[in-house]
Amino acid sequence: MKKITILGAGVLGSQIAWQAAFHGFSVTVYDIDEKALENAKAKHKVYAAYFKANRGASDEAVQHAFDHLAYTSDLAEAVKEADLTSESVPEVLEIKKEFYKKLAATAPEKTIFTTNSSTMVPGQLAAETGRPQKFLALHFANPVWEANIAEVMGHSGTDKKIFDEVVSFSKAMGMVPIPIFKEQPGYVINTLLSPLLAAAGNLFFNGVADYKTIDKTWMISTGAKFGPFGIMDLVGMQTMYHVMMLKAKQTGDEDAMKRAEAIKTNFIDKGKLGISSGEGFYKYPDPAYQSPDFLK
Ligand code: NAD
Repeated sequence: MKKITILGAGVLGSQIAWQAAFHGFSVTVYDIDEKALENAKAKHKVYAAYFKANRGASDEAVQHAFDHLAYTSDLAEAVKEADLTSESVPEVLEIKKEFYKKLAATAPEKTIFTTNSSTMVPGQLAAETGRPQKFLALHFANPVWEANIAEVMGHSGTDKKIFDEVVSFSKAMGMVPIPIFKEQPGYVINTLLSPLLAAAGNLFFNGVADYKTIDKTWMISTGAKFGPFGIMDLVGMQTMYHVMMLKAKQTGDEDAMKRAEAIKTNFIDKGKLGISSGEGFYKYPDPAYQSPDFLK
C-alpha cells in the first residue's frame, strides 16, 4: 500500500493526510471545496512547525512529508491510482451515501475504501460503495498523532484479508491499531467514554459533588491524566451538546436532555467551548488539574 487519498480535508482529514505523508505514503488530499484545500495546506504548515518543535521531527523529515502531499478538487484525479481512501466528509448519512455512489463509479477496482465516521457503522454505507468486501471503518481520534489509536472495524461483508491489510497500514502510518471484530456503534473508545461522561454529568448537575472533586476521584483512583470534566473540555462543549441531544432524542433520556441544556446555557452561550476557546470547566493553558496540588 503506497498511494493514499484523503476524501474531505476538514479537521480530521487534514490531520490524517499529514500523518500518512509524514510516514512516507504518497497522499492526495481531495475536497469538494477549494477553500477547504487551501485551509488544509495552511494547517499542514502549522503541523510541520509543531512536529519540529514538539515531536523531534527534522527539517528533512518535514520536507519529505511536504514532497508526498498533493491537493485537488477533482475526484477522478484524486483517486485514479489510490490503493486506499480515507473518507472524512461530514457526519451526515445522506451526504456520505451520495458521496460513496460517486466514489464507487470513479475509483479503480483495486482501491480499498475506509470511512472515518464516528457515529455510523460501515454496514450503513456498504451498499453504496459498490465493493462491500473492500470497505470498512478506519477511525482516528483527535489529534491523530497524540491520541494515536486507529480503530479498525469491518461489517459482515468485509473481506478478512482486507481487514488485516488495513490493520497493517495503520501501523505503518504510526498508529496503534485497535481491531474490532463486530460492528459496534462508538467503537471501543466511545463505548467506554460515553457512560463515564454521562455519569459524571449526572453527579455534578444533580449537585452530588463538584466537578473538581469528581475529576480528582477519577484521577487518584485510576492514575488517569484527566478526569471526566477535563475530557469534556478536550472534546469540546459543542460536540458534548450534540452527542447528549442525540442520545436524549433517540432514547427519551430526560437526564441527557437536562445535561445537554445545562451545557448550552452554562458554557456554549457564554463562549466557553472547552480547550479550543481557552475555557470550559477549567481555564487554559494551565488548567487546575495539572497543578501538583490538585490531587492533594
Ligand atoms: P469537517 O466539517 O471539519 O470536514 C468535512 C470536510 O468535508 C469539509 O472540508 C467539507 O468541505 C468536505 N465536504 C463536504 N461535502 C463534501 C463532499 N460531498 N465531498 C467531499 N468533501 C466534502 O469535519 P470533521 O470534523 O473532519 O469530520 C469528518 C469526519 O471525521 C466525520 O465522519 C466525523 O465523524 C469524523 N471524525 C471527526 C473527529 C473530530 O474530532 N472532528 C474525530 C474522529 C472522526
